[in-house]
Amino acid sequence: MGLKTALTHTVLPKRRYLLRSLLISLLVFFLFTLTTLFIVHHRNEIQQRNLAEHTVKFTLTFMNELTTVMTKVSALQPLPCSQAQAALNHHSTFTSGVRTLVLVKNGIAYCSSATGEMSKSVDTLYPGLNLARPIDMILQQGTLMVPDRPAIGVWLSSPGKSDTGVLATLDINLTPYLLFSLQNNNSLGLAIVVGDRAMTTFHFGIISQADLPKRHAQEIPIPGFPLKLMLYSSTLSPENIRLTLLIGLLVALATCALSYYIMLFRHGVDRELLYAMKTRQFHVVYQPVVHSANKKVAGVEALLRWNHPVEGAIPPDVFINYAETQGLIIPLTQHLFALLIEDAGKLMSILPAKSKLAVNISPWHMTDPDFKKDVLGLIAELPAHHFNLVFEITERGMVDEEIAQEMFSWLRQQGVEIAVDDFGTGHSALIYLERFTFDYLKIDRGFVMTIGKNTVTTPVLDTILTLTRQLKLNTVAEGVETTQQANYLVDHGVGYLQGYLYSKPLDVTALAQFMLGYPHQ
Ligand code: C2E
Ligand code: CA
Ligand code: CA
Repeated sequence: MGLKTALTHTVLPKRRYLLRSLLISLLVFFLFTLTTLFIVHHRNEIQQRNLAEHTVKFTLTFMNELTTVMTKVSALQPLPCSQAQAALNHHSTFTSGVRTLVLVKNGIAYCSSATGEMSKSVDTLYPGLNLARPIDMILQQGTLMVPDRPAIGVWLSSPGKSDTGVLATLDINLTPYLLFSLQNNNSLGLAIVVGDRAMTTFHFGIISQADLPKRHAQEIPIPGFPLKLMLYSSTLSPENIRLTLLIGLLVALATCALSYYIMLFRHGVDRELLYAMKTRQFHVVYQPVVHSANKKVAGVEALLRWNHPVEGAIPPDVFINYAETQGLIIPLTQHLFALLIEDAGKLMSILPAKSKLAVNISPWHMTDPDFKKDVLGLIAELPAHHFNLVFEITERGMVDEEIAQEMFSWLRQQGVEIAVDDFGTGHSALIYLERFTFDYLKIDRGFVMTIGKNTVTTPVLDTILTLTRQLKLNTVAEGVETTQQANYLVDHGVGYLQGYLYSKPLDVTALAQFMLGYPHQ
């Protein structure tokens, strides 16, 4: 895992971002769903209105054609049935929707396009049909001839005569509607209402108008005829709702992911680090360094700690490296200086005079124009002459030798000692011995760990130790955990020891306790 990724994973309040993203996506979900449903509802409403208009137009055209034909047929009245039947038959065949046409005189049907001459009271054919009206209609379960197929009887009286006229029997064919409703999933059904009877696409047979459902109904009266249609359709079908919810869910998920990554990107580790300084999430711990000869405490190394409110302790290796690569190490070190100054008073009462106060300084910081000002500020604020400041500088990243050399001598003029940190882990360790003047060489924990173990790096430690003895360099060994390591290092002339064998890094209060109980005073 890359450094940035490592820190991004540990530092950012991802749970908070996730929660926020979820809330945003929930809002988006509701807004999207409501707006989409509103639009679909509106669109369906317009569709329904158009459909109603078309239906009225279609039905009116049909009824007008029918009455025109019936008027024509009524002109056959004076003829005997034998002469009228051919024309009657012709009209019945070529008028769509018509099953039969019957001539009626004085309430008696006497000539049918289907059966020719007859004599039957209209009352027996269509009980309830009102021949006194100029136009009347009736809906019936069947006719005498075709009893099992619902039919509509249409009555058109001859002008001026009340119970003489033409009677048409219409077939009710709902197939076009059913075909149409297959394409439109908002359609729930259709009802044809004649008088107080109705026939629907969702009931078998004829029902009373009173039994028609009222919900989702659109009533379409056909002007001029005792006929109306009821269109049943929902402005929002279950399909519409399901689809909208599904798309809404997808949109919300995408929003959630997007907003989460935008938050990660925008807030980022950098802001989090700066925010952590402002809100005092950092503190300093101090790890004692002892003289190898008498084990007396020679001083302490200051180490930064970050306690993130959500993520807990974040390893310094991670955030220091991050700050170094992101150009944040300078503000972070300035913050460390400020924390040291805050602790200085207490430290002075805990540690004896002339104690070393070792501070880790990033080589990048030394190239900053404000570095000298920062150092002078620290020196000015620390209790004068109580502490010997030691700057631990790693060889890694020391690119510009000239600047380093100049800075080292300036620091030493200010009374700051220099320790080369993590010695031996870089590539140019030995060159440094030759080129730079410094006060201590810190042998990395990695080498100390090899003592007593026959590893590849064991001879490296021996070489370093032989060299430092010959060059009469002051050495500090870090990461001393066992007496075996301590004895070995002492035997090989290492001047100072630091490690868990003596103490872990401690905050000021714990350091005070440690010093009180420490036997080698
Ligand atoms: P370092 O400068 O080499 O610091 C020594 C590290 O070894 C510290 O880890 C310390 O806690 C750990 N250590 C000391 N004795 C023992 C031991 O006996 N056993 C084991 N296992 N570990 C021991 P820490 O505090 O986690 O710091 C890690 C690194 O982070 C430091 O390595 C240093 O490079 C950097 N660092 C820490 N604080 C600061 C700071 O204030 N400024 C800068 N620039 N770097 C810092
Ligand atoms: Ca160090
Ligand atoms: Ca080290």
